[in-house]
Amino acid sequence: MNSEYDVIVVGGGPAGSMAARFAAEKGVSVLLLEKDRDIGYPVRCGEAVSRESIVPFIDIDDRWVAAKIHKFSFYAPDGGVATLEAHMPSLVLERRIFDYELARTAAEAGAHIITRAYVNGLTFDNGTINGVTYEFQGEQISVRGKIVIAADGIESRVGRWAGLQTHSDFRDMESAVQVTAANIPVEQDTLHFYFGQKYAPHGYLWIFPKGNNKANIGLGISGDINKKKSALSYLNDFMLEKYPGAPILSKVSGGVPCQLSLDRISAPGIMLVGDAARHVNPLSGGGIATGMIGGQIAGSIAADAILLNKPEHILSYDKAWHNRIGKRHEIYNKLKEGIYNFSDDHFNNLAITINKVPADQRTLGRLFTAALFNQPSLLLEVAKVFVL
Ligand SMILES: Cc1cc2nc3c(=O)[nH]c(=O)nc-3n(C[C@H](O)[C@H](O)[C@H](O)COP(=O)(O)OP(=O)(O)OC[C@H]3O[C@@H](n4cnc5c(N)ncnc54)[C@H](O)[C@@H]3O)c2cc1C
Repeated sequence: MNSEYDVIVVGGGPAGSMAARFAAEKGVSVLLLEKDRDIGYPVRCGEAVSRESIVPFIDIDDRWVAAKIHKFSFYAPDGGVATLEAHMPSLVLERRIFDYELARTAAEAGAHIITRAYVNGLTFDNGTINGVTYEFQGEQISVRGKIVIAADGIESRVGRWAGLQTHSDFRDMESAVQVTAANIPVEQDTLHFYFGQKYAPHGYLWIFPKGNNKANIGLGISGDINKKKSALSYLNDFMLEKYPGAPILSKVSGGVPCQLSLDRISAPGIMLVGDAARHVNPLSGGGIATGMIGGQIAGSIAADAILLNKPEHILSYDKAWHNRIGKRHEIYNKLKEGIYNFSDDHFNNLAITINKVPADQRTLGRLFTAALFNQPSLLLEVAKVFVL
């Protein structure tokens, strides 16, 4: 443990571990501080991710793969079901192990990691960020760092301390709740999605299998819906209807920022990654892969800034993120607004339309095209997603 580092990363989720790793791989000194006792625990996540998105970061290991996914099933409010073969497989992870392994790769690259280290402030020298303070085993510790990367998740405070605008509109903040339940006899190679007013207005309900008939069952609804009826009430109603008496192994809740990235994700001495930067895919709510990509970009740029001795280089991160992912998220955000306003009839008709397509020709692209058939402007945006 040094008293000074080139880069200090706050938070040991997927975004923080990747930021630490990609900075350390370039040879700069890195400290990662995580407030919880264990990296990867507690898990607040449905744990689904596309295989393709994580392969560039880590070799697939059965120890953290709970289920291998080859199909998606969409359930309409009237009970209609449309099933699509996934042309690119997905995974349901054991994040408890996966996050741990990501942190291990950061440690292997040379990053120092301290858990149970609760960061409670930034330090400044003449108005310039020059480190953080944290509490560890009852002691208040100060450590200097040339660049601080805030990877402190949805409840992030570090960005705010640095003076960045981190506020989210409550309508964009999905309230999510999930149980991991046993004795759920769904196909284990399929991600199941339920749509409609009854299940999850302005959002969706998911069942993600975790092997041995265990499954993550959860839903996200927009903040304004949650005010009228809570996400937990919707989930309780669903469990009572579909799986009464199913043993609940864990229950979690949290916010999912289904919005565009923050306007500014870097400023002198500070970079924001993952949920802290609102890097979540605004359409699906998935933030594991995008957090890892944001971490990779930020860590790499931070190291370059140190090696070039050009502190201002970190400001190029905003553009780098936008070019890699942000542009695509603008399209997903428009799609989200279209889809969230679908009526139940629209979802019912959609399942019927998709089921008319021969099974081997059903793709996600076709699903979106059918979904947006009467909305030419959105259709054009979808076309861009699949062309770009
Ligand atoms: C119910 C639910 C289901 C979801 N399902 C999916 C899904 O199926 N697929 C998907 O891709 N995404 C899903 N997400 C989103 C996904 O979990 C997040 O986008 C992802 O974890 C973001 O990674 P991160 O590293 O930015 O933040 P996190 O994983 O939240 O990590 C942040 C870390 O920072 C630490 N920290 C916070 N404050 C401090 C501090 N002051 N000092 C030190 N450490 C601190 C925290 O303890 C935490 O370990 C879901 C979210 C929810 C709530």
